[in-house]
Amino acid sequence: MGSGRIISIGSVQIGGGLPVALQSMAAVKTADVQAVADTCRHLADAGAAIIRLAVDTPADAKALKAIRKEIRKRTDVNLSVDLQENYRLAENVAPFVDKIRYNPGHLHHSEPETAWQTKVERIVQTAEKYDCALRIGVNCGSLDPALLNNSAINNSAGKTYVPALTSALQHSEFLDSLGFTRYCVSIKSSDPKTFTAVNRHFAAMRPDVPLHLGLTEAGLPPAGIQKSRLALEPLLADGIGDTLRVSLTVPNERKHEEIEAGRLIVQNAAAGNILTEEHWHVDTWNIISCPSCARVENDRFVQLAEQVHEAVQKLRQDLETDWKDAPLTIAVMGCRVNGPGETDRADIGLWCGKTSVNLKSGTELIGSFGYSEVIEEMLRLVRKVLLRHSLNRLSAAS
Ligand code: SF4
Repeated sequence: MGSGRIISIGSVQIGGGLPVALQSMAAVKTADVQAVADTCRHLADAGAAIIRLAVDTPADAKALKAIRKEIRKRTDVNLSVDLQENYRLAENVAPFVDKIRYNPGHLHHSEPETAWQTKVERIVQTAEKYDCALRIGVNCGSLDPALLNNSAINNSAGKTYVPALTSALQHSEFLDSLGFTRYCVSIKSSDPKTFTAVNRHFAAMRPDVPLHLGLTEAGLPPAGIQKSRLALEPLLADGIGDTLRVSLTVPNERKHEEIEAGRLIVQNAAAGNILTEEHWHVDTWNIISCPSCARVENDRFVQLAEQVHEAVQKLRQDLETDWKDAPLTIAVMGCRVNGPGETDRADIGLWCGKTSVNLKSGTELIGSFGYSEVIEEMLRLVRKVLLRHSLNRLSAAS
């Protein structure tokens, strides 16, 4: 599967029709060397070729040396590091990892007066110096504000397709202009249709660039696996995609389920057993939730996502059909990195702080509530949103 050039990420190669490499991400604090090393061994045993770690602080970066040493005692699994807002740590992490992921949408946070091109050039120089691959990791939940605010690019309110595609193309061209070709691209979205369309478009325009596939914030299994199947299988069946991650909201000790789901998706695509919308029916509203990672603000996040799911399912069971069929998207996010952006586009959003959860209706912040209060507040909001849908429908019909 896959096409384009072959690139090396440590001991694994992707692209050029090589087998799809499966990935997952640790959801324990990166500075906790033993917990990370245990997670990496667990995921490598499950079949992971690449494991991603979040690095946000110099302490996280410092832990990488010991993590690498610990991991090497048992496995040659490859490490990728996710820098998000902290591209300046590239130099600290590069000696101990095989790939660095940077997010074009987060480069503006640090040193805002410096052009993104200068920042990317520094990352590229570091990758070259330490023999690392790069991933340009575009996420529809955290797009570059310069693209979102450019009306010539973002002319369709609320739609992320064009700015996301533009960002991926722009950064690919820039890396090419620096003569750096050891990179792959990901364009993630939590919406299967947007995800499939934008990745198909990018693959048509840049068939030479290996693609990392992953529906972001797919959510709790089994719906999270179904949504990922819907998004990824059609692409893989058409030879698009070289490495993938299924992002499931599960506790760290169950992260091997992401690898198992990834393997199932690759096998289905190869066998032509493609899940399509007409075969897909989940009796629930659309619940988006992030997989959590080292950045999660509170360890109760996965439990919160499960509580949201249970509470809205229970509410839904007691409703009239008209109300049940209202299109409703609820986003539950573990921290501020993709939380504010992803919840902006949902009907109802919850994103976690250390001691409280921010509850939103679209872009409007309703308030911050304790972890034990927020479910009741959310249910109140769900009823309000459903009532609004119902009134809109009545007035449209009259
Ligand atoms: S939103 Fe979730 S997965 Fe994304 S950085 Fe925050 S905790 Fe990690």
